[in-house]
Amino acid sequence: MIYLDHNASTPMLDEVREEVSRSWTLFGNPSGDNSSSLMAAHEVELARNRISNLLGVNYQDLIFTSGSTEAIAIAIYGIVLAAPVHRNEILVSRIEHKAVLATCYAAAELSGRKVIEIPVTRSGEIDIDFVLENVSEKTAIICCMSANNETGVIQSTNEILRITNNFDIPLFCDTTQSIGKDPDFKLENLRSMISVVSGHKIYGPKGSGLAVIPRSLQGKMYKVLSGGGQERGFRGGTLNISGILGLAKALEISLAASEDLDLEVKKMNTNFLRALENAIQIPIHVNTKSAKTLSNTLNLRFEGVLAEEIVVNFREVVASRASACTAGREEPSHVLLAMGLTVREAEQSIRFSFGRGCSLDDIPLAVRDVSEAVDRVLLLNRQLRSF
Ligand code: PLP
Repeated sequence: MIYLDHNASTPMLDEVREEVSRSWTLFGNPSGDNSSSLMAAHEVELARNRISNLLGVNYQDLIFTSGSTEAIAIAIYGIVLAAPVHRNEILVSRIEHKAVLATCYAAAELSGRKVIEIPVTRSGEIDIDFVLENVSEKTAIICCMSANNETGVIQSTNEILRITNNFDIPLFCDTTQSIGKDPDFKLENLRSMISVVSGHKIYGPKGSGLAVIPRSLQGKMYKVLSGGGQERGFRGGTLNISGILGLAKALEISLAASEDLDLEVKKMNTNFLRALENAIQIPIHVNTKSAKTLSNTLNLRFEGVLAEEIVVNFREVVASRASACTAGREEPSHVLLAMGLTVREAEQSIRFSFGRGCSLDDIPLAVRDVSEAVDRVLLLNRQLRSF
């Protein structure tokens, strides 16, 4: 198997697995007051401190969750449900992950607010002018991701944050694909926005993650999951110690190695595309055109051939024809449609995402596998037409 689906999930690192195994001995409930509990709580707080130092944010801003989806819900419902009534508009980019889009629509419905979708350019960049034209004293929150999971397009988070700071509006930024992956993306320079981390995107455990919520906002938010008051009342429930320890280890390694990994995946990406263009019989198009993307992500359109037919014909390569969370459903990517691709063009597109689960040595075989899969589909289609 050649795993080219790192934006969907990543293999857990050995060091993370060891840390998770160590955590199983910490069976006390970290919210209790006996000695087992105190041992567990101590480890959680060590992890919290380590993560806050690694990310360059305050440790009181960290809310441990079960991943990005939960962190997103805590953040968006938290802001929207507590916003003053006159702030009745939610601005959200059209290319957000469904975890954000669906939450915005649900929060809007619950609170009688309106969602305004921010369009993107043909290359997948969020339209900043649209944000500037539509932001007002009616805006409750702006939701714009830092890098897209399907296309890898890196967004102008700095510029959007400047706008939201000027208007004193909370910015929710889905940073799931940037943290630990984009070496230029530094949360320490973006402290006033809400951001999220997902463990399984950075070689950590599934079911681990966090929300980074600046303290200046915490007091103004509705707490949807208050439960027993854990995590400053934002995420009640017994803490997932193994997830938290595993997440800290995964972040430590991912952040330390992000520049080296970035160079390596950039080489894989370039070599793969160049060799594929030579090997394949049909035109292929990079859907993101000239946009700046995460080095590991390549979203390609195979002209005239359905992606789902290509993907089922792979013998070695593992890749996605859409974002993993919507891939089970028969609908074309909302991200590619937002960029102006037709339904047909979106259905011809495949996302390849490189990472530690593959290497430069795998690229020739990956190219052969993809081009042979395309050949098989073309042959089958020719045969079907001749019947
Ligand atoms: N946001 C983005 C950009 C993602 O890529 C994903 C996962 O695919 C999520 C949110 C959801 O993350 P999780 O699986 O941690 O809930």
